[in-house]
Order: sequence, then C-alpha cells, then structure tokens
Amino acid sequence: MKIYRLPPVSSALVFDMDSTLYTNPEYERDQIDLLIKRLARIRNKTFEDMKGEVASYRETWAQVRGEKISLSRAFMDFGVPLEENIRWREELYEPSRYLKADPVLGKTLDSLSSRYSFALVTNNPESVAKKTLAALGVGDFFSILVGLDTCMVSKPHRLPFLKALELLEIPARECIALGDRYEFDLVPPLELGMGGILIEKIEDVYRLEEILP
Ligand SMILES: [Mg+2]
Repeated sequence: MKIYRLPPVSSALVFDMDSTLYTNPEYERDQIDLLIKRLARIRNKTFEDMKGEVASYRETWAQVRGEKISLSRAFMDFGVPLEENIRWREELYEPSRYLKADPVLGKTLDSLSSRYSFALVTNNPESVAKKTLAALGVGDFFSILVGLDTCMVSKPHRLPFLKALELLEIPARECIALGDRYEFDLVPPLELGMGGILIEKIEDVYRLEEILP
C-alpha cells in the first residue's frame, strides 16, 4: 500500500476492480492473453508474435508520450474498435472460473459502508464487472459502476472518474481513489483533486478500516 493523498474529510471511495478487489495473477494474465489470442487469430499471426507486437507498441507509446496506454486503446490502434473489444471481453471473460467469494472483503466493505459511499471504475465492461463482483460475493456494495461501455473511454482518461463523481454526487476533494495501477487508477483522480491510495495486494484493502479517517 502506498498512500499518495488522504483528504481531511472524505465520504466516498472510488475503487478499481481487477487486481484491486482481488489478487489473482493467473486471471490477470489470462485477461490480456485471451484478447491477444483472438487478435492473433484474426491477423493470422502466432500468439507469441502478436503478444510481442502489442507489448512493444505499448512500451514505445509510454516512452514517446510519457504516459501509459490502456490495452483497449492499444487494440484500437491494431484495428479493433472499442465496441468489438467490449464484445470480446464479454464473450471471453469468465471471472467465476478464477475467483471465489471473499468473506473478508465483504466484511471490510460492510464496515466501511457505514462511513463511505462506494463507486467502481473499471476498464472492463459493466457486465464483466457485475460477474466479477458477484463471484467475489460483493455485488450488493456497488450500485455505482462505471465500466468501459459507460463512457466508451478507458482509464487513464478522466471521463470515467468524472462520471463516478457525478453519480456519487460528492465533490472530488471528498473522494479517495483506490487501485493497483498508479498511472491508470490514481493519476487522473489525483489531478481532479481526489485522494489516492495504491493497492498492492488484497490485504491492503482488508487494512483500509485502520488506515482511513
Ligand atoms: Mg486494476
């Protein structure tokens, strides 16, 4: 866990989902590989070649522009429109194959919910987010959900965060963003005046009760 900023008064938590509300390296890897496999098939390339091409494209982008590019945004540059990317994710991702109910997470969110409103901002489509939260047994805690298909842009774009703030009806200065990727989950919220905490493993989420004001 790394705390970047904690507001003096806060009443909402804006969570990233993948690798924030669970830790599962296999699912993290497969989410990328499943999309690459399908792209490779369409492009008549081997999986390894396609994976290398996408990875080096993203690396070059980061070097040249000084910021990271989301996988969905990179896929657009490889000729896969966002609508298609969303469809692929909906078809290919089955979170319940990797994740199971997490009672400690449930207990943590339950306790935090007496002091905070929650929103979820994810670069996965809303339907995948709902399946993921259901697999973790915490679906009831997130009535505010901003996915890839909500604003049709992915983090690190600011728009999904602005949408979450609008739905929360809470000013940015009273919100704290939590996520595992600094550039995607924390840079835009910090720029908007929100607080930010980097989550490095699920145990960091379990500790929020003692960390948060
Ligand atoms: Mg994440």
